[in-house]
Amino acid sequence: MEVSFGYTAAVPLAVDGGTLHVQGFIDRLDRATVGLVVRDFKTGKQKAREETDVDPVVDAQIALYALVAPGLMGGEKVARAAYIYPVAAGDAERAFEGAELEDLLRRAREWFGLARELLAARSFPHTADAKRCNYCAFQAVCGTDGAAVSQRKLAAAAPSSVAARFAAIQRATEADDAD
Ligand code: SF4
Repeated sequence: MEVSFGYTAAVPLAVDGGTLHVQGFIDRLDRATVGLVVRDFKTGKQKAREETDVDPVVDAQIALYALVAPGLMGGEKVARAAYIYPVAAGDAERAFEGAELEDLLRRAREWFGLARELLAARSFPHTADAKRCNYCAFQAVCGTDGAAVSQRKLAAAAPSSVAARFAAIQRATEADDAD
Protein backbone atom coordinates (compact mmCIF):
# COMPACT_ATOMS: atom_id res chain seq x y z
CA MET A 1 0.00 0.00 0.00
CA GLU A 2 1.03 3.61 -0.51
CA VAL A 3 1.59 5.43 2.77
CA SER A 4 2.00 9.09 3.62
CA PHE A 5 3.59 10.24 6.85
CA GLY A 6 3.93 13.55 8.61
CA TYR A 7 0.63 15.04 7.43
CA THR A 8 -0.65 17.14 9.06
CA ALA A 9 1.98 16.98 11.84
CA ALA A 10 5.56 16.01 10.99
CA VAL A 11 6.74 12.66 12.37
CA PRO A 12 9.51 12.79 15.00
CA LEU A 13 12.43 10.60 13.91
CA ALA A 14 15.26 9.61 16.25
CA VAL A 15 18.59 10.44 14.57
CA ASP A 16 22.12 10.85 15.86
CA GLY A 17 22.16 13.61 18.44
CA GLY A 18 18.41 14.24 18.65
CA THR A 19 15.15 14.31 16.75
CA LEU A 20 14.35 15.37 13.20
CA HIS A 21 10.74 16.00 12.13
CA VAL A 22 9.91 14.57 8.72
CA GLN A 23 7.09 14.05 6.24
CA GLY A 24 6.74 12.29 2.90
CA PHE A 25 5.18 9.51 0.83
CA ILE A 26 6.23 5.87 0.61
CA ASP A 27 5.30 4.29 -2.74
CA ARG A 28 4.87 0.79 -1.28
CA LEU A 29 4.95 -0.41 2.31
CA ASP A 30 3.96 -4.06 2.75
CA ARG A 31 3.93 -6.71 5.45
CA ALA A 32 5.74 -9.86 4.39
CA THR A 33 6.41 -12.93 6.50
CA VAL A 34 10.01 -11.75 7.04
CA GLY A 35 8.95 -8.24 8.11
CA LEU A 36 8.17 -4.95 6.43
CA VAL A 37 9.14 -4.36 2.82
CA VAL A 38 9.67 -0.75 1.74
CA ARG A 39 9.80 0.13 -1.95
CA ASP A 40 10.22 3.30 -3.95
CA PHE A 41 9.62 3.29 -7.70
CA LYS A 42 12.04 5.18 -9.91
CA THR A 43 11.77 6.23 -13.52
CA GLY A 44 15.50 6.79 -14.16
CA LYS A 45 18.34 4.40 -14.92
CA GLN A 46 19.11 1.85 -12.22
CA LYS A 47 21.94 2.77 -9.89
CA ALA A 48 23.50 -0.59 -9.17
CA ARG A 49 24.95 -1.14 -5.70
CA GLU A 50 28.39 -1.97 -7.14
CA GLU A 51 28.51 1.41 -8.89
CA THR A 52 27.92 3.70 -5.97
CA ASP A 53 27.91 1.55 -2.84
CA VAL A 54 25.96 3.37 -0.11
CA ASP A 55 25.54 6.94 -1.27
CA PRO A 56 23.68 9.61 0.74
CA VAL A 57 22.61 11.39 -2.43
CA VAL A 58 21.01 8.22 -3.82
CA ASP A 59 20.06 6.32 -0.68
CA ALA A 60 18.87 8.92 1.83
CA GLN A 61 15.30 8.69 0.53
CA ILE A 62 14.87 4.91 0.87
CA ALA A 63 16.76 5.02 4.18
CA LEU A 64 14.36 7.64 5.51
CA TYR A 65 11.39 5.50 4.56
CA ALA A 66 12.94 2.47 6.23
CA LEU A 67 13.58 4.47 9.40
CA VAL A 68 10.03 5.83 9.49
CA ALA A 69 8.18 2.62 8.50
CA PRO A 70 8.29 0.77 11.87
CA GLY A 71 6.58 3.71 13.58
CA LEU A 72 3.78 3.57 11.00
CA MET A 73 3.30 -0.20 11.32
CA GLY A 74 3.14 -0.85 15.03
CA GLY A 75 6.89 -1.17 15.54
CA GLU A 76 7.40 -4.03 13.10
CA LYS A 77 10.96 -4.31 11.76
CA VAL A 78 11.92 -3.52 8.18
CA ALA A 79 13.34 -6.60 6.44
CA ARG A 80 14.00 -5.10 3.03
CA ALA A 81 14.17 -1.63 1.51
CA ALA A 82 14.63 -1.10 -2.21
CA TYR A 83 14.35 1.24 -5.13
CA ILE A 84 12.57 -0.40 -8.04
CA TYR A 85 13.44 0.57 -11.61
CA PRO A 86 10.61 -0.80 -13.76
CA VAL A 87 11.85 -2.12 -17.12
CA ALA A 88 10.21 -4.35 -19.71
CA ALA A 89 12.61 -7.24 -19.07
CA GLY A 90 11.81 -7.43 -15.33
CA ASP A 91 12.14 -4.83 -12.62
CA ALA A 92 15.69 -4.07 -11.50
CA GLU A 93 16.28 -3.23 -7.84
CA ARG A 94 18.72 -1.36 -5.66
CA ALA A 95 17.98 -3.26 -2.48
CA PHE A 96 19.15 -3.44 1.13
CA GLU A 97 18.47 -6.23 3.59
CA GLY A 98 20.14 -7.95 6.52
CA ALA A 99 23.50 -6.47 7.56
CA GLU A 100 23.50 -4.10 4.57
CA LEU A 101 20.18 -2.67 5.65
CA GLU A 102 21.45 -2.23 9.21
CA ASP A 103 24.52 -0.44 7.87
CA LEU A 104 22.36 1.81 5.67
CA LEU A 105 20.14 2.75 8.62
CA ARG A 106 23.15 3.43 10.86
CA ARG A 107 24.62 5.74 8.23
CA ALA A 108 21.26 7.38 7.58
CA ARG A 109 20.86 8.23 11.27
CA GLU A 110 24.25 9.96 10.95
CA TRP A 111 23.26 11.82 7.75
CA PHE A 112 19.95 12.97 9.22
CA GLY A 113 21.63 13.81 12.51
CA LEU A 114 23.91 16.11 10.57
CA ALA A 115 20.90 17.59 8.78
CA ARG A 116 19.32 18.20 12.20
CA GLU A 117 22.41 20.06 13.38
CA LEU A 118 22.57 22.15 10.19
CA LEU A 119 18.90 23.07 10.54
CA ALA A 120 19.32 23.96 14.21
CA ALA A 121 22.28 26.18 13.30
CA ARG A 122 20.33 27.69 10.39
CA SER A 123 23.29 26.67 8.28
CA PHE A 124 22.59 25.59 4.70
CA PRO A 125 25.90 24.84 2.97
CA HIS A 126 25.73 24.33 -0.77
CA THR A 127 27.12 21.31 -2.52
CA ALA A 128 30.78 21.28 -3.47
CA ASP A 129 30.07 18.82 -6.27
CA ALA A 130 29.25 20.63 -9.52
CA LYS A 131 27.41 17.55 -10.87
CA ARG A 132 24.69 18.15 -8.27
CA CYS A 133 23.96 21.53 -9.87
CA ASN A 134 23.01 20.07 -13.26
CA TYR A 135 19.28 19.87 -12.62
CA CYS A 136 19.01 22.39 -9.80
CA ALA A 137 16.47 25.20 -10.13
CA PHE A 138 18.76 27.57 -8.22
CA GLN A 139 21.54 27.73 -10.82
CA ALA A 140 20.43 31.19 -11.85
CA VAL A 141 21.00 32.32 -8.26
CA CYS A 142 24.24 30.44 -7.55
CA GLY A 143 25.86 31.11 -10.91
CA THR A 144 28.05 28.67 -12.78
CA ASP A 145 30.63 28.50 -10.00
CA GLY A 146 28.27 27.86 -7.07
CA ALA A 147 29.82 24.51 -6.22
CA ALA A 148 33.38 25.89 -6.48
CA VAL A 149 32.53 28.76 -4.15
CA SER A 150 30.98 26.28 -1.72
CA GLN A 151 34.06 24.07 -1.88
CA ARG A 152 36.29 26.99 -0.88
CA LYS A 153 33.99 27.90 2.02
CA LEU A 154 33.76 24.32 3.27
CA ALA A 155 37.53 23.90 3.02
CA ALA A 156 37.90 26.89 5.32
CA ALA A 157 35.43 25.56 7.93
CA ALA A 158 36.76 24.67 11.38
CA PRO A 159 37.72 20.95 11.39
CA SER A 160 35.19 19.88 14.05
CA SER A 161 32.36 22.08 12.78
CA VAL A 162 29.13 20.68 11.38
CA ALA A 163 30.05 22.24 7.99
CA ALA A 164 33.33 20.29 7.96
CA ARG A 165 31.50 17.04 8.72
CA PHE A 166 29.04 17.82 5.92
CA ALA A 167 32.03 18.35 3.59
CA ALA A 168 33.55 15.02 4.68
CA ILE A 169 30.38 13.14 3.72
CA GLN A 170 30.40 14.93 0.37
CA ARG A 171 34.03 14.00 -0.26
CA ALA A 172 33.30 10.36 0.52
CA THR A 173 30.40 10.40 -1.94
CA GLU A 174 32.52 11.99 -4.67
CA ALA A 175 35.26 9.41 -4.11
CA ASP A 176 32.71 6.60 -4.49
CA ASP A 177 31.36 8.22 -7.68
CA ALA A 178 34.90 8.40 -9.12
CA ASP A 179 35.64 4.71 -8.43
S1 SF4 B 1 23.00 25.41 -8.10
FE1 SF4 B 1 23.42 26.17 -6.03
S2 SF4 B 1 21.73 25.40 -4.73
FE2 SF4 B 1 21.76 24.22 -6.66
S3 SF4 B 1 22.97 22.40 -6.20
FE3 SF4 B 1 24.35 23.91 -7.10
S4 SF4 B 1 25.25 25.03 -5.35
FE4 SF4 B 1 23.42 23.91 -4.59
